Amino acid sequence: MSDRRDAHGRDDRRPAIAAPGSVKQITSLTNPIVKDIRGLALKKHREETGLFLGEGLKLVTDALEEGWPVHTILFAAATRGQEAVMRAAATVHARGGMVLDVSEQVLGKITRRDNPQMVVGVFRQKLTPLAEVRPREGDIWVALEQVRDPGNLGTIVRTADSVGAKGVILVGETCDPFSMEAVRATMGSLFHVPLVRTGRDAFLAWAKTSGARLVGTHLKATADYRSVASTAPTVLVMGNEQQGLSDALAEACAVRVKIPMWGKADSLNLAVATGVMLYELRRVEIGSV
Ligand code: SAM
Repeated sequence: MSDRRDAHGRDDRRPAIAAPGSVKQITSLTNPIVKDIRGLALKKHREETGLFLGEGLKLVTDALEEGWPVHTILFAAATRGQEAVMRAAATVHARGGMVLDVSEQVLGKITRRDNPQMVVGVFRQKLTPLAEVRPREGDIWVALEQVRDPGNLGTIVRTADSVGAKGVILVGETCDPFSMEAVRATMGSLFHVPLVRTGRDAFLAWAKTSGARLVGTHLKATADYRSVASTAPTVLVMGNEQQGLSDALAEACAVRVKIPMWGKADSLNLAVATGVMLYELRRVEIGSV
């Protein structure tokens, strides 16, 4: 048999999840397909298969409209016949994916929720190579160093989408952007915002030649965050929830800024700080309308 490996070197013939292209009805919680898909809640299984779960019709529709590679769609029998659900199922089938008509209990088991979404998709993970990131005039990218909290990561991807940022670069050891919690928090923006994963050294080497201005955020910075608006290609660099920005990344930034704090809190939540910064970076465009 010929070798069929994806861009990450994974064998896409892996039989863990049933072959695409078929329509099945499943009610048994012990069905092996259910067991395999349920396994996608675990990082190890996501890494082995290169797949992940997306919950809800909106999210599945976002993914399909974006042409994201889909493996399987599952819908609750109660939604059978609903136009939007059937359209999504037909699209998945036409693209060679598997369509599963399942009980609500099966969806609850897969998503580990008492009140599961009525539609769930299994998608193939997709990352953008750092070498393909070439920021241009007006572009904003977000770099997150060692982000640990999937809720923060997902919220930041959603916020990046909201301001039209070009993508999010995950630097160093980070939480999995394809975990159920992170995907949920993106509210579908995961499918619109390119994601890059890279090591710190590779990021620093890329930054030197990228032509982008690195704007770092740091609690010890003296410059005010309202001093950064510009149309120059920009990478906003955010630190880890506990340790903040590493010295190596902080030093690589052309400018380091702080968002003033008036009360007793010593820092803002990472996703909140990223949101404040992204809207500030965009302010220049409103000013120039
Ligand atoms: N104890 C950490 C420290 O000393 O940096 C706190 C990290 S904070 C929860 C996570 C990240 O959010 C920071 O690394 C920074 O990127 C950003 N951040 C939070 N509050 C900020 C502020 N007031 N000004 C600038 N950046 C901030």
